[in-house]
Amino acid sequence: MSELAILGGDPVRSIPFPDYVTIGADEAEAVAEVMTSTVLSQYLGKWHKDFFGGPRVQKLEEEWATHFGIKHAVTVNSATSGLYAALGASGVGPGDEVIVSPYTMTASASCVLVYNAIPVFADIDENIFTISPESIKRVLSERTKAIVVVDIFGHPGDFEKIMEIAAENNLIVIEDAAQAPGAYLNERCAGTLADIGVFSLNYHKTIHTGEGGVVVSDNDDLAERVQLIRNHAEVVVEEKGVSNLVNMLGFNYRMTEIEAAIGSEQLKKLEALTSERIRCADYLTASLKEFPALSTPHVSAGAVHSYYVYPLKYHAEITGVSRSKFAEVLRAEGLPVGEGYVQPIYLQAMYQNKIVYGSSGCPFNCPLYSGKVNYDKGICPVAERMHEQELLTLNFTHANMTEKDLDDIITIFVKVFDNINKL
Ligand SMILES: *Cc1c(COP(=O)(O)O)cnc(C)c1O
Repeated sequence: MSELAILGGDPVRSIPFPDYVTIGADEAEAVAEVMTSTVLSQYLGKWHKDFFGGPRVQKLEEEWATHFGIKHAVTVNSATSGLYAALGASGVGPGDEVIVSPYTMTASASCVLVYNAIPVFADIDENIFTISPESIKRVLSERTKAIVVVDIFGHPGDFEKIMEIAAENNLIVIEDAAQAPGAYLNERCAGTLADIGVFSLNYHKTIHTGEGGVVVSDNDDLAERVQLIRNHAEVVVEEKGVSNLVNMLGFNYRMTEIEAAIGSEQLKKLEALTSERIRCADYLTASLKEFPALSTPHVSAGAVHSYYVYPLKYHAEITGVSRSKFAEVLRAEGLPVGEGYVQPIYLQAMYQNKIVYGSSGCPFNCPLYSGKVNYDKGICPVAERMHEQELLTLNFTHANMTEKDLDDIITIFVKVFDNINKL
């Protein structure tokens, strides 16, 4: 076997892996049609038939609801906006605690702070990396009002147990399915497994509209409140006959007709794009599972993983080579691998310093808040261990990957493990 690239040999792969591209002629044509219509957004921020947006926005919402088998789909301009609206709709406010995952994109937790409530971090499961039911139970308090469950990397959260905990404690559950359109749990679509679900249509996600998002719910009241928050609720509530004014400060989270037109085309491709992700992941797993120093992605019984990210656990105690060294060696062979995912959120400066609104410590020292939240390093040991020591992330399970590309990834691992004693 040839010399490792890090020791001066030739890399297995000298050209980059293919980019993920989902946009084509259908999207271009759909956008051209919107341009010809000249109406790029038809919303009005008042009680009027256009309060719900133009024809393409409403069409995408109908298609989305049908595709995911849910009563209401409400488009927004990002999943971040969608999470903010979902938290607002759920009625959370000052003094409340919301249980969140530390190992996710930042907005999954900051949506809680937007409503002056307190994010309380519960640790993740070491196999599927989503928030674990046991850790949720450990941080429950009389102040807990909601849980945000993130289907991280495309694996649905442990909803059977989490919805049970929620029912026993009268909590609203929000599913952040930004990474999981196309995933399933017990034949139900990820995104529809909780009280409210949020999808992302950001450029980096499985299907996209540049920027965009969709909030879904079977609950009429929650869906109406999301529609209100999306579009200047405070101007509309009286004429619409809305009497519950809690969190009815509205925003402009509206999607344009352009993104909606693109979204309709993208949605048609979702199933096929997900199958391709699964094809790539299964292909990699079939070979990579043979290495004792790697744990390939776990898929829970009844779950379909959509592999937005392909997570691998690396066991340095088996090789005697640290993860950072191992990742460096893989990169030298031409495989840009991620070490961990994101810093556990509570370690961000905003949480460590408890500075959010102004400089006085609001909302953490709010007189309405009777708890004392802990953001110390060590509160979520599994998330920290995954981040600092074990997790490797690959972004190469997608439709543009050929068998040759996947074989190159496997060859890189074979070469590195064959030469591991030289490191
Ligand atoms: C991308 C992402 C978001 C935010 O999506 P945007 O549409 O970019 O605002 C939220 N949560 C998770 C888990 C994500 O991956």
